[in-house]
Amino acid sequence: MAAATVGVIGGGQLAWMMAGVAPKLGINLVVQTPSAQDPAVSIASDAIFAAIDDAAATGQLATRCDVITFENEFINLEALTKLAQQGICFRPHLEALSPLLDKYNQRCYLQEIGLPVPQFLAVSDYNSSQSHFGFPVVLKARRHGYDGRGTFIIQQQEELEEFCSRLETDNLMLEEYVPFERELAVMAARSTTGEVVVYPVVETEQKNQVCHRVIAPAQISLQIKEQVLEIARTLLEKLQVVGIFGIELFLTSQGQVLVNEIAPRTHNSGHFTLDACDISQFEMHLRAVAGLPLTEPMLLCAGAIMVNLLGYENSQSDYAVKRQKIATIPQAFVHWYGKTESRLGRKLGHVTVLLNPEQIAESASIAQKVESLWYG
Ligand code: ADP
Repeated sequence: MAAATVGVIGGGQLAWMMAGVAPKLGINLVVQTPSAQDPAVSIASDAIFAAIDDAAATGQLATRCDVITFENEFINLEALTKLAQQGICFRPHLEALSPLLDKYNQRCYLQEIGLPVPQFLAVSDYNSSQSHFGFPVVLKARRHGYDGRGTFIIQQQEELEEFCSRLETDNLMLEEYVPFERELAVMAARSTTGEVVVYPVVETEQKNQVCHRVIAPAQISLQIKEQVLEIARTLLEKLQVVGIFGIELFLTSQGQVLVNEIAPRTHNSGHFTLDACDISQFEMHLRAVAGLPLTEPMLLCAGAIMVNLLGYENSQSDYAVKRQKIATIPQAFVHWYGKTESRLGRKLGHVTVLLNPEQIAESASIAQKVESLWYG
């Protein structure tokens, strides 16, 4: 039977976009989130105000829901496991999340199931004063990194030593710097009955490790596309996932595909699906966790470009004038998360512009137009 009430641990923009599609599916959404100001609170059916790692609050949330899902991976797995043992239903189930929450364990798991990953090491396993991979090298916090926070591209020995002496080495991993030609991503979902559906592969563009743009679909060969789809299917089947996952990848100039990171949830690289696909990533995830059937998603246009609206100052402005200007671009859809404060690099909203076949080659200049209206 389909779940009528879904609990979400988290109440940020991803939960907000999930709450936007819940009524269409006849689903009530209850969020667990720290503050009444958090984006999803205003449109969710109900909310419990508590930290996302507060398992006692999740126990309470469970009394109001048929199933609980996640907005992000910063959860207290041990405490939630106790709740699962009491019969509370989590989707994806906790066994599918546990190898992924720590970036080092995630790399080990992906390697174990035969997926291609960059070379890596746990910093605690070796003499931290040396880079085994030469320079540049990438140092990452094993947990709680996001939007590039916790990812450091290190150019030289002294810098590496300085980072290792300053940070908790048990929480660090080191990996080879991949001189990628492009970064790719794909969203894939799996249902309670094991159907897997995969969205078009996209290209993502990061600046200072933060996603600025997503181009859908990625202009890649059929062979690369098949490789990415196979990675997605393998991962979701091995983990018996129920729900949607985002997979971030590197594509090298030799045509090698490497998995960078798994997001066990909805993801920024899938935001374009809200306007460009018949079923958005948020609807697909809710369908999966609610036990509804999934259908293969379809792109409704030749392509799309998604641009993140990132904070560039400390302010309480709602930037209404800028948003109106951006909305005048033909086929532009502005999504504003309603955050009460802007800070440097904070994701405040995003814009998707749908493209016709003649505009595919111009996607960079359309993105540029959005960014110049936003950043000035
Ligand atoms: P987060 O979890 O904060 O998103 P990621 O590990 O995905 O952090 O890294 C963010 C970005 O940093 C990537 O999209 C990529 O641009 C860059 N990056 C991460 N790892 C590597 C690597 N091994 N080689 C080259 N660039 C990397």
